[in-house]
Amino acid sequence: MTFEDLQLNKNILRAIDELGYKEPTPIQQKAIPFILAEKDLIGCAQTGTGKTAAFAMPIIHYLHKLGNTKKAKKAKVLIVTPTRELAVQIGDNFEKYAKYTNVTYITLYGGMSIKPQIEQLNKGADVIIGTPGRLLDLYKQKHLDLDHLHFLVLDEADLMLDMGFIDDVKKLIQLTPSNRQTLLFSATMPLPIRELAHEFLQKPEYVTV
Ligand code: AMP
Repeated sequence: MTFEDLQLNKNILRAIDELGYKEPTPIQQKAIPFILAEKDLIGCAQTGTGKTAAFAMPIIHYLHKLGNTKKAKKAKVLIVTPTRELAVQIGDNFEKYAKYTNVTYITLYGGMSIKPQIEQLNKGADVIIGTPGRLLDLYKQKHLDLDHLHFLVLDEADLMLDMGFIDDVKKLIQLTPSNRQTLLFSATMPLPIRELAHEFLQKPEYVTV
């Protein structure tokens, strides 16, 4: 299978080509068609499998199709991830694959001053990537508008459970529109994650690698 077979927009294909990616990885081959078909999805995959691109590429495709996003940047995508390092890595992925699109993103995490993050939020972006505690803080301070979301991505869900973030994650999910498309990625599927998926995903497709 090639990236062309996945029917991603040519602006994304151009970026992928420049990066020298020859073919989609197994998680990308399995997950991208479901995401493009607007299905909820549970992806059971470790880091290193290309799972970030498996959600970043179809999300960029969706945003690009929405058209010119230069003005009035209401966030359409929220990606919740356990650590600052992972948030930055996801941001780097968006940077690479969205190079020939107008798609914008910001990263929001704890352990640093909140003020520049508020300024970034006020400027707006299509994609918000953040850690649970800081996202909730920004919501409580009324800087985070989640009313226009299409995508909610829960990345490394098992790690968020291990780090004690699960209640914050549930609170965040409940702040998002109920007609959202939800993608949950986890390396393992312990019971609390399966329960979370059952409670918050609608007829999810399940892919594993
Ligand atoms: P991840 O599992 O998301 O942490 O990705 C692991 C690494 O694989 C990252 O450095 C990506 O840039 C790279 N990568 C993702 N998809 C592909 C692909 N289809 N071909 C080659 N490298 C890829």
